[in-house]
Amino acid sequence: MADYKFIKNCDIYTPLKTFKKGGILIEGEKIAKVGSFKESEIPDETQIYNFQNHLAVPGFIDIHVHGGAGIDFTDSSPESMTEALRTHLQNGTTSLLPTIETASHKQILQTIRNFTPSKREIRELPHILGLNLEGPYISKEKRGAQLKKFIRKPSVAEMKEYIEASKKNIKVVTLAPEIEGALDFIHFLRDQEIIPSAGHTNARYLETEKAVKSGIRHATHLFNAMRGFFHRAPGATGCLLLKDEVSAEIIADGFHLHPLTLHLIERVKPLGKIILVTDATKFYGIKKEPSYDEEGRLFGSSTPLNEAVKNMIQFTGLSFEETLRTVTSNPAKILKMEHKKGHLKKDRDADIVILDKELRVRKVFLKGKIVPTGKNINF
Ligand SMILES: [Zn+2]
Repeated sequence: MADYKFIKNCDIYTPLKTFKKGGILIEGEKIAKVGSFKESEIPDETQIYNFQNHLAVPGFIDIHVHGGAGIDFTDSSPESMTEALRTHLQNGTTSLLPTIETASHKQILQTIRNFTPSKREIRELPHILGLNLEGPYISKEKRGAQLKKFIRKPSVAEMKEYIEASKKNIKVVTLAPEIEGALDFIHFLRDQEIIPSAGHTNARYLETEKAVKSGIRHATHLFNAMRGFFHRAPGATGCLLLKDEVSAEIIADGFHLHPLTLHLIERVKPLGKIILVTDATKFYGIKKEPSYDEEGRLFGSSTPLNEAVKNMIQFTGLSFEETLRTVTSNPAKILKMEHKKGHLKKDRDADIVILDKELRVRKVFLKGKIVPTGKNINF
């Protein structure tokens, strides 16, 4: 007999539609129906969850995550990575892209292998929708907290090895458009159906525009670690901000970007192209304050996505419904996963987050199963 669960009495944000005091019927791992219900529509022996005064939203999708709970994906074992993944799940992130920073060839390869499907299906963890490589083909000047000694020129041969090791599961690669060989490399990534993302770049406006023409479709933490906008020289930032075909990641932790910069992005970028990310480091889930490297540069963030959503609402003109898209349907769309993720809709995976009115995460359903709460990290 099918396993039915019914979530009732809460405000549901699909996020493209809103149902006040609606219900969600879950059948096994999938959503069977969303909206208003007659009692006769609820099968016998359904488990009922009454979430009065709460909101139900799709599980968050975070496309830029380096670790959490004291663990950095790049220098840890598959076993210890599960703790980091679980921390994200408890904060409402039901899908993510583990993100591998600039490192040696061997280290990148090993981290990719740690995330290959056979090793990652062991426990109940957020869905790994693929991998994100942040480098190593980036600018030395704009490397941020990435290690200079591992930065190199784009190599198709090397990338082919990574793609193979990942079982064709690399989704995003960050590179600096101005470095030698970048444009051909962008074409290669597009042929492999990998999203080429501009980031950690010192490119000028025209160089960036050429790269967009070659296939750049995403910007890695827009404004951070890239040539800034100046009124007579709009730089990489100006180009990536203006081009509608480029989606933009934003770290809305209140430290990486001034509130007015968030507002500016929201005014210029089409809503469907804005994606909030954590850029979570190993300190995610451990402390709230941002982290700095030895040279005083900000690196990564510890702010969970529900907090980033709150910041966006506070600092921009966006409503809750609109902001919610930046952590659910928008990332699902750029990853071409809309048929499964990012929406509360019939036949989608039953990845559901229950929030209270202050947007604190109260309950998480992962493919229809309740995630053990443990210690939810909320601030
Ligand atoms: Zn990062």
